[in-house]
Amino acid sequence: MLRVAVVGSGPSGVYAAQDLVRQTQVPDVRVHVLDRLPCPYGLVRYGVAPDHEKIKSLQDTLRTVLEHERIAFIGNVEVGTRGLGPERLLRLYHAVVYCVGAARDRRLGIPGEDLPGSHSATDFVSWYSAHPDAAADGFALTARSAVVIGVGNVAVDVARILARGADELRPTDVPATALGALALSRVRDVHMVGRRGPSGAKFTTKELRELGSLPAADVIVDPTDLALDPAYAAPGTTAALSAVSRRNVDVVRGWAEGPPPHRDRRIHLRFFLRPVELLAADDGVGAVRFERTVPDGDGGVRGTGTYEDIPAQLVLRAVGYRGVPLPGLPFDAARGTVPHSAGRVLRDGAWSPGEYVAGWIKRGPTGVIGTNRPCAKETVASLLGDAAALAARAVADDPLAELRAAGHRPVEWPGWEAIVAAEAAHGRALGRRTVKIPDWPGLLAAAGD
Ligand code: NAP
Repeated sequence: MLRVAVVGSGPSGVYAAQDLVRQTQVPDVRVHVLDRLPCPYGLVRYGVAPDHEKIKSLQDTLRTVLEHERIAFIGNVEVGTRGLGPERLLRLYHAVVYCVGAARDRRLGIPGEDLPGSHSATDFVSWYSAHPDAAADGFALTARSAVVIGVGNVAVDVARILARGADELRPTDVPATALGALALSRVRDVHMVGRRGPSGAKFTTKELRELGSLPAADVIVDPTDLALDPAYAAPGTTAALSAVSRRNVDVVRGWAEGPPPHRDRRIHLRFFLRPVELLAADDGVGAVRFERTVPDGDGGVRGTGTYEDIPAQLVLRAVGYRGVPLPGLPFDAARGTVPHSAGRVLRDGAWSPGEYVAGWIKRGPTGVIGTNRPCAKETVASLLGDAAALAARAVADDPLAELRAAGHRPVEWPGWEAIVAAEAAHGRALGRRTVKIPDWPGLLAAAGD
């Protein structure tokens, strides 16, 4: 038997577990999928926006994997606590696959970044996703004007949620407190701002297009903002662009040439503006100062020394995630990833037997959920190639008993199913479908702790 721990139950962890039990090269592989939360599915549960129900339904696929007879989900076990570091894990399991994602937001590093009213988009996402670590006081949404910095898919998500009415989100699993705050939201103008042009934006076209189909919001694009982008000014010269970038430019062009806005809420898509400072008002942020940029001829931009202030009482910084070092595991601080070769963890450049990585902690925070499939496959192929040597090492007979003896209180599959049932009952009591439980005590009580 080969005992493997997968650390993290998001898509990369679940895909790795699936590949481990589905293959026939190494018989009788047993997998424990550990997660620090009592709930599985990582960013599919706590990152995919509540109104993206089709993507959220991926949880059903992930569930069938975790229900496999040779896979066990073990929640509420945080690696790095109670003596459970990488060294100890290797005494419990023949191999460990770290699929811990990229848990932090990147910083802008500009003055005023921490003014009241300025938040990372990941905090906002955690709040409306009912992550139990989200700040309990949440978001009051008293701002009339919000700035979202960045033009990736997270920026699109948070701009869309701000522009949606509560009625549109009531059928989703958004937690009751967030729904209440969104119902009282005074936000009318959402400015989503990129430092490069539309052809350099990171969002994908499907997500971008969705902004144009919101029932209560218009998308506003100023053509003069775009004229600097060679792909916009001279569409015939876009052959070198990726298909996604070309489609993005076409969608933005449609909005720039579209009819005037008439709805109550507005999403202003701005380009060629880079943030240089958040300006204070009486009780928090009052505006964001941007410097106008122009293409530098090399795919990037340079500043022009001309500035524009966009008023905002709420600022969401959606400039990407970054990996967090796990004590005891090597870490490349510049990349925010664990050094590896085809998924095998490298310590001082040499392979560390039994240690592997997959997902964002392996390749950085890029790609869509499906990108994790080939990523996990590569890692599992490396692990299976090493299996004979790994299985020769003696490990604990019952890792779960050892975890309990060390003071961990694992939530196993029946505990998770009890959370699912409690969230369904919570939703029924509110006259809604399933509604997520947003706090640790509530989740652990539901799990029968
Ligand atoms: P991202 O795609 O890397 O986008 C980050 C954005 O922030 C870019 O526009 C980037 O501009 C900008 N940025 C970075 N540093 C900046 C700075 N100092 N000043 C101003 N702008 C700055 O990151 P993300 O939106 O967090 O998404 C992470 C991953 O999750 C992506 O692969 C994304 O596709 C995925 N995701 C997918 C979905 C979905 O499929 N529905 C939803 C959410 C997230 P530059 O390009 O100029 O650096």
